[in-house]
Amino acid sequence: MYDRGLKVLPGGVNRVRGFLSPFPIYAESAEGCWITDVDGTRWLDCNNNSLSLIHGHARSEIVDAGRRQLGLGTAMSTPTESEIGLAEMLCERLPNMASIRFFNSGTEAVMFAIKAARAKTGKSKIAKIEGAYHGLYDFAETSLDPAPGQWSNEPTAVPYAKGTPKSVLSEVIVLELNNVESMVRLLRENQSDLAAVLVDVLPLTTGTLSMDPDFLRAIRSLTRDLGIMLIMDEVVSFRFGFGGMQGVYGCDPDLTALGKIIGGGFPVGAVAGTASAMEVFDHRLTGKPLLPASGTFTANPMTMTCGKVAVELYTADECARLNKLGQDVRDNVDRMIRKLGFEAQTTGYGSVFKIHFNRHPLHNYRDAYPTEDDRKMAAAFTSRMLARNVLVSPYGFVFSTAHRGSDVDILLAAIEEALEACAS
Ligand code: PMP
Repeated sequence: MYDRGLKVLPGGVNRVRGFLSPFPIYAESAEGCWITDVDGTRWLDCNNNSLSLIHGHARSEIVDAGRRQLGLGTAMSTPTESEIGLAEMLCERLPNMASIRFFNSGTEAVMFAIKAARAKTGKSKIAKIEGAYHGLYDFAETSLDPAPGQWSNEPTAVPYAKGTPKSVLSEVIVLELNNVESMVRLLRENQSDLAAVLVDVLPLTTGTLSMDPDFLRAIRSLTRDLGIMLIMDEVVSFRFGFGGMQGVYGCDPDLTALGKIIGGGFPVGAVAGTASAMEVFDHRLTGKPLLPASGTFTANPMTMTCGKVAVELYTADECARLNKLGQDVRDNVDRMIRKLGFEAQTTGYGSVFKIHFNRHPLHNYRDAYPTEDDRKMAAAFTSRMLARNVLVSPYGFVFSTAHRGSDVDILLAAIEEALEACAS
């Protein structure tokens, strides 16, 4: 299959993050937290399609709803009741968000949240945290992965993709995670040009190192004073709390980017916002909205219907149970690391955690940047996990409500074996 793929797909695959050397695993089917590949081998799935399948694969209630909708039509260009249903449910969970506009990916959600902030404020710059992933909109991907050779004392705007226009870089202010002093200075210096500060309180690229609540509070209060909007990227972090991480942190952003789990396994993105922030999408005010935003498959009833079932099934109790399951596994892994006296530590929150193969304190992107030795150890660990038929995400271990006690036992045995092998 890989040989066939190489002939028609650049690099042989459609998603580089899913690539495994010397060739990828080709999935044939999946159920719960298990994927069966084309050779009939079963894999314990601790990736969940990049954290998007909160109930694992083929959850029966979602399959039933999806099957019904498939027979009723998949995309009609007219609105359907399904978009109202999902929007109502999300607005209820995010009390500061008055309304929602749906898109088809997290990248689009972040892009339209930024464009909404620009349309509302009439300013063009954004500020974001060094190393944070927010999808692939030019401005949002800036300084996603600067290498040590590109570090100056303070974070600067570094292109992610070759060919990024210089003008993009001049529109992005890069902040250091949890450094209040420099954040305050940079926001004040750029106040007259800054439309928004974009934050993910648990950036995956650093191994979900948490944003300090005081840092977030300082950003919220200063952005409010300076007329800058706050965008919370909850594309991933919505899974961590019944009302997302804004509920956990008690933060009220102007705009929220959503995606992943709210689509029930189908492509999705959404921008939610306060009544004032969302006015820019409303065509009734001026005929043409301040921010024109639509798409052929946005709010299609397959995504909306399956998304609504998935969100409905993710009750406050299920969310708490899943967070505890993740925390218990992480505690167990911490114990293994201590017992082995191994040079490693874990970071994460609730249903996601990562093992870092070093012991130094981790506060920000630069601390979490792996050395060559860290990388080698991580690669050895991942290949051990693969040898035990466990699929891990590049961001670490991701759990869904489909993971049960017996799956966790299999996982812990595999992790222990992999850590022991790496320690010896
Ligand atoms: N924001 C965050 C925090 C993400 O982790 C991701 C994807 N991993 C995105 C945005 C982009 O979402 P998508 O892949 O659906 O475009």
